[in-house]
Amino acid sequence: MTTPEQPLAGAGLDTVAVRAGTRKTEEGEHSEALFLTSSYVFGSAQEAADRFSGEQPGNVYSRYTNPTVRAFEERIAALEGAEAAVATASGMAAILSTCMALLEVGDHVLCSRSVFGTTTVLFTKYLQKFGVGVTFVEPTDYSGWEEAFQPNSKLVFVETPSNPLCEVVDIQRLATLSHARDCLLIVDNCFCTPALQRPLELGADLIIHSATKYIDGQGRCLGGVVAGPKALTDEVLAFIRSAGPSLSPFNAWVFLKGLETLRLRMEAHSRNALALAQWLGNQPAVETVFYAGLETHPGHELAARQQSAFGGVLSFRVKGGKAEAWKVIDSARILSLTANLGDAKSTIVHPATTTHGRLTPEQRLEAGITDNLIRVAVGLEDIKDIQQDLQRGLSQL
Ligand SMILES: *Cc1c(COP(=O)(O)O)cnc(C)c1O
Repeated sequence: MTTPEQPLAGAGLDTVAVRAGTRKTEEGEHSEALFLTSSYVFGSAQEAADRFSGEQPGNVYSRYTNPTVRAFEERIAALEGAEAAVATASGMAAILSTCMALLEVGDHVLCSRSVFGTTTVLFTKYLQKFGVGVTFVEPTDYSGWEEAFQPNSKLVFVETPSNPLCEVVDIQRLATLSHARDCLLIVDNCFCTPALQRPLELGADLIIHSATKYIDGQGRCLGGVVAGPKALTDEVLAFIRSAGPSLSPFNAWVFLKGLETLRLRMEAHSRNALALAQWLGNQPAVETVFYAGLETHPGHELAARQQSAFGGVLSFRVKGGKAEAWKVIDSARILSLTANLGDAKSTIVHPATTTHGRLTPEQRLEAGITDNLIRVAVGLEDIKDIQQDLQRGLSQL
């Protein structure tokens, strides 16, 4: 038996992040209980029949519902200002499940050209295979978006700020364009999280997260979530129930703990990233820095309006090419050489040969992923140590 969640009407974002979705069992535990169970026992044959038919609400099987997963979903929904949320096994499972629920043969999707690499693969290799067309659009070219709509367009998919060049897309403007064409706007809010950006308030229809990143915050678990109106998330849930990419209750429990410190971490990531971006801008071996927190960044004003801070990911071009970029990366002793982001530990990566390595050289050039580009997901270490770690390589160029 669980008691209902605590009343949180009118509570602030920090309170919601710590408390929303919390229920207590009769044991009276203070931390959220972890329900590691695949199925649930019924009191009678009648109850089993009623649960299966849906006449009686309640748990049946953890591919359908799980109390720990539900707590995570409720907390995310409250943080995003969404009516409902559905958790998935990974961020990619969230994107796939949304597409499977809302698209059919003959439909068309508009997608920002600057999205997570695997999202591009999913849209091109797999959705096209099932008869869904896709057009990739320069994210900040609004007439390009307008021109890309087709009579059969259904979804518009965007990430802002983008990875790795931190391009900032005007969510409100894109929502207006999308709705004029009867399309839903989906925002992958992974880089900002609801602590820094709330796309539903700006007119987006659905939010996607890879919870693997900042929501976990310590690089432990894979997970994802879709948030928005219940009529839409119910469709996504129906697909997950049938197809099976459900979130593990253990991972949901880890994410619940992550959410409790989300805002503090996002502010600290943003503070460190801004300090690092400013410092990099003054290094003679650095050609350009891409971070929306810098006043020189073309998306600065929009980001300042649309986000409450600028996030933890930045990229920069060193003077030279691949050899020089690799020298900086290989000289780092503290920063982890890994493609993950959103971790307390800073990470460094060479996009052209890793995250964007599957693109053709022409596609990479078009996307601005040059051989001298380095991406850093700035963690929570002392900023002077992060700077020193990069200085070691930069001073050799
Ligand atoms: C990592 C990531 C994803 C995919 O999430 P997984 O949890 O790795 O499946 C999707 N979008 C963005 C922006 C990401 O960074």
